[in-house]
Amino acid sequence: MYEAQKRWREKNIEKVRLINLNYREKNREKIREIGKRYRDKNREKLLAYKKTYRKKNAEKIREGKRRWLLNKIHSDPEYALRYYLRLEELKLKYGKKSKRRFPIPPSVRLQVFKRDKFTCRYCGNKAPNVAIVIDHIIPVSKDGENNLDNLITACEYCNSGKGDKYL
Ligand SMILES: [Zn+2]
Repeated sequence: MYEAQKRWREKNIEKVRLINLNYREKNREKIREIGKRYRDKNREKLLAYKKTYRKKNAEKIREGKRRWLLNKIHSDPEYALRYYLRLEELKLKYGKKSKRRFPIPPSVRLQVFKRDKFTCRYCGNKAPNVAIVIDHIIPVSKDGENNLDNLITACEYCNSGKGDKYL
């Protein structure tokens, strides 16, 4: 009986696929309910499994995340903008330059990025091809201010090489 069933299914793969699809379409709620019940019941086990999986595939997961991010940044300008603003924020908060006493307000940063069309004013490279940051023309350490005239968009590369020098 079982063998016959198997053979029939192998012969009618397309039909089986359609029936399966149809069933799933019709019983979406029910299937979701069953899945939820299973997950609730096996929470501990699933968590443990997830943990081992993550540990075993850390490199793969990191690579996947990186690829997702790159793809997202290239396809969604709004997301790219938010991402770079967030990077800037984190850099101000935790980076080496965190001694800046007066952080640039996000609205000002956005204005600078927009004015410069998300392009590094030193080398002309553009986000999202490069990571962009806000640069002080006259450094804070030399009393440069956080106003639009003293701020320009720079890529990370140009920004890192410039140090505290005047242009
Ligand atoms: Zn540059």
